[in-house]
Amino acid sequence: MQKQEDFRSPRVVIIGAGMTGLLMFIKLREAGITDITLFERKSRLGGTWRDNTYPGVACDVPAHMYTYSFEPNPEWRKRFADGSEIQNYFERVACKYGVIEHIQFNEAVTEAMYEAGHWRIGTSQGRTVQADFLVSATGILRVPKRPDIKGIDGFQGAMFHTAEWDHSVDLTGKRIGVIGTGSSATQVITTLGRQGHDLTVFQRTPQWILSYPNRDYSEQERERCRRNRLRPVITGKIQSFLIEQIGSKAVIGNPVQHAMVSMACKWNLRMNVKDANLRARLTPDYKVGCKRLILSDGYYDAIQRPNVRLITDGIQRITEQGVQTANGEQHALDVIVLASGFDPFAYFRPANIVGKQGVRIAEAWQDKVQAYRSLHLPDFPNFFLMLGPNSPIGNFSVIAISEVQTDYVLQLIRLWQRRRFDEVSAKREAMMSFNRHIKSGMGKTVWVSGCNSWYMDQDGDPAMWPYSWKQWVKEMATPDLNDFHLVSYPELQARPARPDPVRRLESA
Ligand code: NAP
Repeated sequence: MQKQEDFRSPRVVIIGAGMTGLLMFIKLREAGITDITLFERKSRLGGTWRDNTYPGVACDVPAHMYTYSFEPNPEWRKRFADGSEIQNYFERVACKYGVIEHIQFNEAVTEAMYEAGHWRIGTSQGRTVQADFLVSATGILRVPKRPDIKGIDGFQGAMFHTAEWDHSVDLTGKRIGVIGTGSSATQVITTLGRQGHDLTVFQRTPQWILSYPNRDYSEQERERCRRNRLRPVITGKIQSFLIEQIGSKAVIGNPVQHAMVSMACKWNLRMNVKDANLRARLTPDYKVGCKRLILSDGYYDAIQRPNVRLITDGIQRITEQGVQTANGEQHALDVIVLASGFDPFAYFRPANIVGKQGVRIAEAWQDKVQAYRSLHLPDFPNFFLMLGPNSPIGNFSVIAISEVQTDYVLQLIRLWQRRRFDEVSAKREAMMSFNRHIKSGMGKTVWVSGCNSWYMDQDGDPAMWPYSWKQWVKEMATPDLNDFHLVSYPELQARPARPDPVRRLESA
C-alpha cells in the first residue's frame, strides 16, 4: 500500500468564478486539495447569471434540475427560475462552501505558459502564479457577438447587447428596437411587450417555440421541500428524466420524440397565432430543434400586441435615427437592443495560452476549435477545458454536464497525486478518433438538417454531442489512459509531498 505521505498536493488555478469554477473549487476542496487559486475577471461571481440582467432573463431548464446535486435548493420560487434567483443561489453556495474568500476578483488570466510539469500564469494585475493544473471554467456563451450591420456605430440613441444591459437607460416612452429572435430576445420581447413598451422586432429567421408551463412554487411547497430535502432532489430527477427522454432524444435523431416535440411547437403556433399571414412569417422553414429550441409561454402573445411590430424584411443598415430595412422603410428608434447572441468558440480567449514546444492556442485552433473528450487539447498538458466543444449542451442542464466533467478531471488529478505522472496530455490520434466518433453520430441529428445556428463551427460541424446523455455519462465515467501521453520528470517525482501546501504568488 502507498504511504499517505507519498500523496502530493497539486496547485490548481481555475479561470472563472461562474457555475463551473465554483463547482471545481468545491470538489477539489472535498478531495482534500487546498492550494487553489480562482481568478475572476469581474468584481462579482456568477458568470452568465451575473452578466445577463436583461428584462425577463430566466433559465429554460427547470430550477430543481438546474441545481448542484450536492446543494438542492428548496427555495426556488418558480418551476423555471429567474436569472436573479439563480445568481443568488450561486452566491449563497459560494459563501456556504467558503469559496468566496478565495476568489481573486477583478483579476483576469491574460496568459499562461506550460513548462515541463508546470503552468506559469500571468494575470491582469501583473502577477504570475505557478500551478500544476490549469482549469478553464469560462463557460460557453460569454463573449457577446455584435451583429455585422452597416452603420451600427453611427446610431445616435442608446444601444446595448442583451448580456450588457444598460440599466441607466430609462425605457419609458422610448421606441425600442430588438435585433434577433433567439432565446434572449424572446424573453426580452415577452417581458417588455407585456409591459406595454413600444417595440419593433427585427426577425431574420423565425424560430420554433415550445410553450412551457411555468408556475410559482407556493410557500407550502417550499416548506415541504425544506422539511424533506429529498423532495427537491426527486423533483429534479424527474425533470431530468423527462428532458432526457423527450427533449434530448428528439434532437439526436429519435423520430418518435422528434415528432412529439415538432407537433407541440406547431400546435403552439397554430393555437396562439390566428392571423394566417403573421403565422406564415413566424413559421420556420427548418426542422424543429435544428436551432436551439426556444421555450416561452408568452412570446406569441407579446408579438401580437398593438405596441409590438414584427419586421421580417432584412436589415439593410443602421442609421443615426434607427434601422433601415431592405424595402427602404425607416424605423425610427431611441434604443436598439442587440439580442444577437454570442461567440461560443471563444472559451477562455483572449487569454493567450501557450502549450508544449511553444504551441499557441491560436495555432492549435487555427483550423478547428476541437478537444479530446471536450476537455483536453493535445500539446496543452495538465489543462482542462470545461464545457469544451462537443459537451452535451443541447437542451440539458449544464450543471449536470460540469459535474460529470469535474469527476473525470478529479480522477486524473488523483493519479497525479499518486505520482503516476507529472504531465498528462491527450494524444493527437485520440482526438482525431474522438472527432470521428462525433462525426459518425452527427448525421442523424437534427442540427445538420439544414439551418444556421450558433452550434455550428466554421466547417459547419455542430460542436454538440450527437448521442444520448446516458452514453456520454458512460464514456466519461473513467479517463482512458491509453489516450494520453503520460510523462514523468525525475526532478518532480523526487519532490517531497506537501502536506501543507503554500500558494506561491510572485510579483511579476
Ligand atoms: P442566438 O440564439 O444566437 O440568437 C441570436 C439572434 O440574433 C438570432 O435571431 C439571429 O438571427 C439574430 N442575429 C444575429 N446577427 C444578426 C444580424 N446581423 N442581423 C439580424 N439578426 C441577427 O442568441 P441568444 O438568444 O442570446 O441565445 C443564445 C443561447 O443562449 C441560447 O440558444 C441558449 O442556449 C442560451 N440562452 C438560454 C436562455 C435560457 O433560458 N436558458 C436564455 C437566453 C439564452 P438568425 O437566427 O437568422 O441567425
